[in-house]
Amino acid sequence: MSKIGVFIETADQAIKKSVPGVIAAALRGGDVVGFVLDGLAEQYKESLGEYGITELVNLVASDIDFSKQPQAAGEALAQGVKAFGVTALLGVSSPTGNDLLARAAMALKAPLVLDCTDVNFQENIVKKSHFSGKAIATLEMEATPFVCGIRPNSFDAIPKPVTCTVLNHSLTVSTDDAITITSVDKAGSGQKDLTEANVIITGGRPIGSSENFKLLEECAKVLDAAVGASRAAVDSGYAPHSMQVGQTGKIVSPKLYIGCGLSGSVQHFAGMKTSNVIVAINTDKDAPIFTKSDYGIIGDLFEVVPALTKALKK
Ligand SMILES: Cc1cc2nc3c(=O)[nH]c(=O)nc-3n(C[C@H](O)[C@H](O)[C@H](O)COP(=O)(O)OP(=O)(O)OC[C@H]3O[C@@H](n4cnc5c(N)ncnc54)[C@H](O)[C@@H]3O)c2cc1C
Repeated sequence: MSKIGVFIETADQAIKKSVPGVIAAALRGGDVVGFVLDGLAEQYKESLGEYGITELVNLVASDIDFSKQPQAAGEALAQGVKAFGVTALLGVSSPTGNDLLARAAMALKAPLVLDCTDVNFQENIVKKSHFSGKAIATLEMEATPFVCGIRPNSFDAIPKPVTCTVLNHSLTVSTDDAITITSVDKAGSGQKDLTEANVIITGGRPIGSSENFKLLEECAKVLDAAVGASRAAVDSGYAPHSMQVGQTGKIVSPKLYIGCGLSGSVQHFAGMKTSNVIVAINTDKDAPIFTKSDYGIIGDLFEVVPALTKALKK
């Protein structure tokens, strides 16, 4: 049976919420080996065993902090792939995941596809959206191993409890890294991560001010949702760019997307088209967003959103 590797992305000693979905994707191809770069596999093994990971490997290189050395981290993942004989390496298509998976693919000279929404290990094909979500490309990987970043929330996490064994794998990787991360400024800390959220409520240009985003935040609190913004709202200074959804913002794929005062531009849809259910709130019954949504509410967001929050609180 084939073995599939998964890069276990973590932040602040916690597993990223989208990782179990990636494990579910990987399990379609065989047994799953998880690769951990922060040395805390022992701490993660119980929760990852719940999702079917049988082997969890601490990739260790003495004196190297992989969180600061992306080139060394990519090389370490590549060495893990070779040492454990996996036929594909998967990870979350997050900013960190995309960076490290690309570096690993480079070191392996392996085919790389990021932001995949489907993967078929029997036929070695993956799917990803192209042209702002207008087309879905089916790509055949002509070499193994291949490397694949999975769009967050494209796969549901599926509990599959197994015994998970931790292994330590020592490596020698180059230390003459061209890039060293010296500090990380977290934009929007304290806010829910848009790319990992199951529910997102987004404000468009008519929100009118950053103060008015509180309306959406109140509703988000009840729904355990993240708050997003259109580019028009960001460009108007109502929200930081870290909240922007779309072609030049974040790509999201929640179970529920509520757009408040969004016209439904192609560029916005490029970032949230794969949401399971889209709800639009717009005053204009002819707004393009209504043709692309599952549910539409014709109304003023300043009336509809507070009413929705009140109803949800009940
Ligand atoms: C290269 C490029 C990249 C881009 N990238 C992005 C991107 O990443 N993300 C993005 O969002 N955009 C992006 N854009 C911009 C995009 O084309 C649109 O201009 C933008 O998405 C429009 O934002 P909006 O829907 O908030 O505003 P508008 O287009 O102004 O639409 C506002 C909508 O709200 C409705 N409305 C008005 N008042 C109310 C109210 N009180 N209650 C309810 N509804 C109301 C109106 O009927 C209207 O339909 C990009 C554009 C380009 C050219």
